[in-house]
Amino acid sequence: MRRQTGKCSRWLWGIPISIVAAAVLAVGVLAGQHAIVQNTPGDYVVVAKQVNVRDSSVFDKSKVLGTLFQGETVHSQGTENGFRKVQAAHGLEGYCSQKYLKRPSWAVQIYLKVTRPADVVTFTNNDVRVKLTDLTVKYPDLATLQVIGQSAWGDDIYALVVGNPNASRSIMIQGGIHAREYATGVIAVEQAAEVLRMAKAGESSDGVNVAQALQNLNIWFIPLLNPDGAALAQQGLSAAPADQREMLVQMNNSLTDFSRWKANGRGVDLNANFDAHWQVKDQLTPFGNGYPGVAAFSESETQAVRALVEKHSFESMICYHSTGEVIYWYFGQEGKAFDRDEALAQALSAENGYRVVKPDPALSSVGGCKDWFVEKYGLPGFTVEILDYSSVPVTETLLSQAVDLNLGGALKLLAYAAER
Ligand SMILES: [Zn+2]
Repeated sequence: MRRQTGKCSRWLWGIPISIVAAAVLAVGVLAGQHAIVQNTPGDYVVVAKQVNVRDSSVFDKSKVLGTLFQGETVHSQGTENGFRKVQAAHGLEGYCSQKYLKRPSWAVQIYLKVTRPADVVTFTNNDVRVKLTDLTVKYPDLATLQVIGQSAWGDDIYALVVGNPNASRSIMIQGGIHAREYATGVIAVEQAAEVLRMAKAGESSDGVNVAQALQNLNIWFIPLLNPDGAALAQQGLSAAPADQREMLVQMNNSLTDFSRWKANGRGVDLNANFDAHWQVKDQLTPFGNGYPGVAAFSESETQAVRALVEKHSFESMICYHSTGEVIYWYFGQEGKAFDRDEALAQALSAENGYRVVKPDPALSSVGGCKDWFVEKYGLPGFTVEILDYSSVPVTETLLSQAVDLNLGGALKLLAYAAER
């Protein structure tokens, strides 16, 4: 039934209704299409493991600005289009799904205490140096510490050479090319320790005596190819040289939270900077993710890998990343190379249980380290993603499971190379 407004239908608060309507319309236009509704403003706590913060309340048109993690408190003025507008203490501001936010009640505090990970992994370039040095002390005849180059901020990039340093054939195990995926460096260190332990104990893997294989082969373990990015993702701006901080904040959409950063210290995604169909795609300027640089090999970190591969005869490589529990192996191989590399990917999968990604002729990701190695040298290279999509931040519990599953990665490549 239509509401009868009687005599007052043309008047509201003593003002002609047409004037009220025009004023409301003008305010609406000035404020933009979607105005904030003062819907239960106040402080809220993130109760999901993580929640994306977007630049718009129109989901289809929005871009992710950053991430809030469980237990963070944010301030909200209200909602817009069903999304809650939030401001975090570290400067992140935008819209996120309401269902992951709760008022900071007693019950929520208890819930967070129970669920918040207390054991977030840290792994710095200093940890790399210390742990690799320890292995050279424990296994002086089998392990050599090397510096393969410097990062943009001048930090050394370390490698541990396991096996005969003068051998003519090599294998590469690489971690930490993406800043926030620094935990993959632990996989590389643990693999090195396992190979060394087995060699000293005279043990075999896949029927190959490890010590004997290491007389004619060596394995280069590079735990943190991107030490600047790893420091930025873990310690924030304080890790950056003072004269770089303002520029980094500009690159990071004016945010001071770098926990989601993937690039190096210059805003270049190193795994898009290799010369394999290198191209600038969506990201046109330096940023935390996806900017491939001004040219292939524009960065000192990727130059270090190129110089190493040009100097030594690498036969295969694994590059560890940390999102998706999958194995990428394809970059245009055909015939025997296709069969060989797919079989090796299946052998890695048999051990860690990760899904082997189907060949994609469109080569949707380009400029990656393994892409370049596979295409330029016609040799097997793998990108192995060690954790699932929700594993940020990485906890000790999750990482120790991933270490167990991936401990044999280098050994698989070693056995394959020894039998050739
Ligand atoms: Zn990655």
